[in-house]
Amino acid sequence: MARALELARKGIYSTHPNPRVGCVIVRDGQIVGEGWHARAGEPHAEVHALRQAGDKAKGATAYVTLEPCSHHGRTPPCADALVDAGVARVVAAMQDPNPDVAGRGLLRLMNAGISVQCGVLEDEARALNKGFLKRMIKGLPYVTVKLAMSLDGRTAMASGESQWITGPAARGAVQRLRAQSSVVLTGADTVLADKARLTVRPDELGLNAELTGLAMTRPPLRVLIDGRLRVPLDAPFFQAGHALVVTCAAASARERYHDEGHDMLALAGSGGHVDLRKLLIELAARGVNDVLIEAGPRLAGAFTRLGMVDEFQIFVAGKFLGSSARPLLDLPLAQMSEAFELKITDIRAVGDDWRVIATPKLPPGV
Ligand SMILES: [Zn+2]
Repeated sequence: MARALELARKGIYSTHPNPRVGCVIVRDGQIVGEGWHARAGEPHAEVHALRQAGDKAKGATAYVTLEPCSHHGRTPPCADALVDAGVARVVAAMQDPNPDVAGRGLLRLMNAGISVQCGVLEDEARALNKGFLKRMIKGLPYVTVKLAMSLDGRTAMASGESQWITGPAARGAVQRLRAQSSVVLTGADTVLADKARLTVRPDELGLNAELTGLAMTRPPLRVLIDGRLRVPLDAPFFQAGHALVVTCAAASARERYHDEGHDMLALAGSGGHVDLRKLLIELAARGVNDVLIEAGPRLAGAFTRLGMVDEFQIFVAGKFLGSSARPLLDLPLAQMSEAFELKITDIRAVGDDWRVIATPKLPPGV
């Protein structure tokens, strides 16, 4: 199963909206077939592994990181393929919460007389598909907020200028984080102040040719929240390619963005602001598993206050930006008792900088 998880991880840049899945087929203590899912519409992990195993699949054990599917999607059900191949035993890391599957894949195997076990290395399997699982269970994407700050907790100069706080290694890590996401989301302030494009740049990913190729065939959708359509069409963000613009602006104002090939989504909330909760629900409905927010203190603070953030990835640079620079989040609190509590789950050096991963102590939505 550990090997199957390792294979599944290869799909981290390319499987969305599908989950990352790996499969290993073992007979007489020998691996006879291996596979992983690369892209939606292409064969599932089990199919690749069964093809490699050929006749050796008969009487073998198949280790799969997610319950084999039982429904006809763009490919035929893997549970049927395992039955047809004569596999004797299937070990799954976890059930598939997808309502189209939800135990029916395992049931089909059992009904065919195959011995079934579920729950092996389940925590690791869940960690690999946090976005897919959250979308299937809650109808929301997994939201990560990426922030870069100085040691004195500042993210941008008073002017809004915020580029190049961290070094090249941290920027490479951010590139990989973008490539793993279905959506990279930002706000008008960031795009205007930094001339941000939020693209994935192959030469900065630091990946081998195979993974770089996968990352570049499924780059994340760039989403801009621009309530009043302040970002001009000749901004680098729009020049860098297709984007989705979320706004409260009237239909007549949206037309010229649409004419330039950008998708428009009108989601008016209160006070001329976009309704952020509705936006996340809409993105999940469109098959978005993972959202990476790279925004200024106002938008990142707004998502935080709503309790819609699952994870913070904070890159810390060894410098002071001074007391007139901007804070990490726009999060006005008056008393210690109101402090936003986080659990730090990982902290490590990334080049000359540090990366802190923290999750809210209260689960999102509470
Ligand atoms: Zn399948």
